[in-house]
Amino acid sequence: NRMKLFQSAKLDVISHLAAGVNHEIKNPLTSIRGMLQILKEDENLSKEKKELFYNIALDEVDKVDQVITDYLTFARPYPDSIEKIYINEVISKSFQIIKPYSTQMNVEIIRKVETSESSYVLGDPSKFVQVLVNILKNSIEASTLGGTIRINAAMNDKRCYISIMDDGVGMNEEVVRRLGEPYFTMDGNGTGLGMMVVFRIIESMKGDIQINSTPGNGTEIILTIPTNIE
Ligand code: ADP
Ligand code: MG
Repeated sequence: NRMKLFQSAKLDVISHLAAGVNHEIKNPLTSIRGMLQILKEDENLSKEKKELFYNIALDEVDKVDQVITDYLTFARPYPDSIEKIYINEVISKSFQIIKPYSTQMNVEIIRKVETSESSYVLGDPSKFVQVLVNILKNSIEASTLGGTIRINAAMNDKRCYISIMDDGVGMNEEVVRRLGEPYFTMDGNGTGLGMMVVFRIIESMKGDIQINSTPGNGTEIILTIPTNIE
């Protein structure tokens, strides 16, 4: 059982989530535009070339879609609002958002929420939903044969703990170490941005991320968020 404690001060590569958008979305758009332009103007394109250019354009569209999902679906880039994040509420919301995907992938999600309706931490609720959705999405994708994901939440007067545990493929030490690096992905269709966004947001809340993972057995990600940040 491998375990690593992260002080989530890891990444200052992209200082604002929004700063990356230009590159992440404009590059694929430029490529899509280029492909469409060629397809429109070159009448003598071979069938193979046409096929190739259409496929590139389609892949790039999927890429943009992924980037938006990992990066900005829920997290409004500006302004960074500081509000009460009701733990039960954001867990419910994330669960609702991810449910169609988990159902499709034959993954059951079990919630054991010991926090009360009034339990909260401070930060941007929409960003916190983005954190939970990105982690849950990875857990579902790691559950290649279906499986179970457990979400636990608990709180004392100093900290809130949220654990997301899957019984998926797990990660070796190298992957755990690189998790959260921008563009680090082991998934051919991945963006490698999901965990970077998670680290950035948890860091901004002065929280920690602990990752326990065993190849072949599964992964547990524990978020620890202080409650006393004003
Ligand atoms: P992406 O999902 O786009 O690949 P992420 O930053 O979300 O990017 O994750 C990076 C990589 O970390 C994934 O490609 C995957 O290999 C690995 N990973 C993340 N979470 C898990 C998990 N729960 N189980 C197994 N592997 C994981
Ligand atoms: Mg991901």
